[in-house]
Amino acid sequence: MDYKKVFADAIETIRDEGRYRVFADIQRLKGEFPRATRFDAGDNARSITVWCSNDYLGMGQHPKVLTAMHAALDETGAGAGGTRNISGTNHYHVLLEKELADLHNKESALLFTSGYISNEATLSTLAKILPGCIVFSDAMNHASMIQGIRSSGAERHIFRHNDLDHLEELLAKADPGAPKLIAFESVYSMDGDIAPIAEICDLADQYGAMTYLDEVHAVGMYGQQGGGIAEREGVADRLTVIEGTLGKAFGVMGGYIASSKDLVDVVRSCASGFIFTTALSPVLAAGALASIKHLRSSNSERVLQQESADELKSRLALANLPVMVSASHIVPIFIGDPVICKQVSDRLLDEYGIYVQPINYPTVPRGTERLRFTPGPLHGPKELDALISALSDIWEDTRLKRAVG
Ligand SMILES: *Cc1c(COP(=O)(O)O)cnc(C)c1O
Repeated sequence: MDYKKVFADAIETIRDEGRYRVFADIQRLKGEFPRATRFDAGDNARSITVWCSNDYLGMGQHPKVLTAMHAALDETGAGAGGTRNISGTNHYHVLLEKELADLHNKESALLFTSGYISNEATLSTLAKILPGCIVFSDAMNHASMIQGIRSSGAERHIFRHNDLDHLEELLAKADPGAPKLIAFESVYSMDGDIAPIAEICDLADQYGAMTYLDEVHAVGMYGQQGGGIAEREGVADRLTVIEGTLGKAFGVMGGYIASSKDLVDVVRSCASGFIFTTALSPVLAAGALASIKHLRSSNSERVLQQESADELKSRLALANLPVMVSASHIVPIFIGDPVICKQVSDRLLDEYGIYVQPINYPTVPRGTERLRFTPGPLHGPKELDALISALSDIWEDTRLKRAVG
């Protein structure tokens, strides 16, 4: 077997399809978000504006977060020093788990090293522990949920995205006696649409199913205290499990679930992805704790983010650019071709110092390639004007499509 050739061919195929991924080498500048320095292949530095960060509220540079992290570093050192079970449980982990349970109004919460791991570990464990469990999974669910459901080995049914009729049809067909789990997200991060959570909970009640909600793109940003869409809609208590990340709006790193005491205890006791890995650095836990506490009592970041998103949507529409309908802070522009998508993104970065990553397959279905903007409280009128003007130039001189689809 010519191993080298297999790998080279695999990369060649990805290149041919126009979806070879090139990471932008950037240094974010604390105190100046969304400004950053970009290093090109020749290591030349240039100042750019980031328009695709998931640090949605700029908490990654918030003074309270940084102070807490500096203090924890000086107090406890760099790492946790072990798995949670073997000397790695730091007092910051305990405080953070209490805070997270409280934020979501649940009995208990459990930390993981990332949101990805929290989904993978929890879903694989739950669906394995319930004998004969059937999982109902939204077609647009994140890769980490799909991975968890797959590795549980449970029977699974995919319902069409946000389609209540299809979900009900599948639930009705399933064995009434079997345990059931409905797994879905609140804000879907590529289209920016939002699940009908209450209606899904109604179906769960009717068919005796548990519910698992990924609020990764909503925690910190929605609800009076940043508890997510479930908090905003007053339905948090109807969900069996709420999952979130500490790496996006909270600006740090890590993932978690919040649920009943016993369910959390089962995951803590059985999930391989929780047990056999070094605990999150206490420095990260301290930063996340400060970030959550701040966003529970401050609404200004959330308000400014929504205003910024509304402003960008209306300016794009005014400029006759193909902005896709979105019910959230996420603002996608339709391109529909992977090669053009990459070209537009490259031109924005190289010629205008505007960074927005092309979103191609497999992150989104083929033919729906797009640019995905995440405006936040720190994108001001100056950055907005520069963006609209650059996009208008590029659309004009490459005669790109103005319509979505
Ligand atoms: C980013 C993301 C995750 C993973 O969270 P990380 O903390 O980045 O690992 C999980 N679910 C969804 C929907 C995401 O977009």
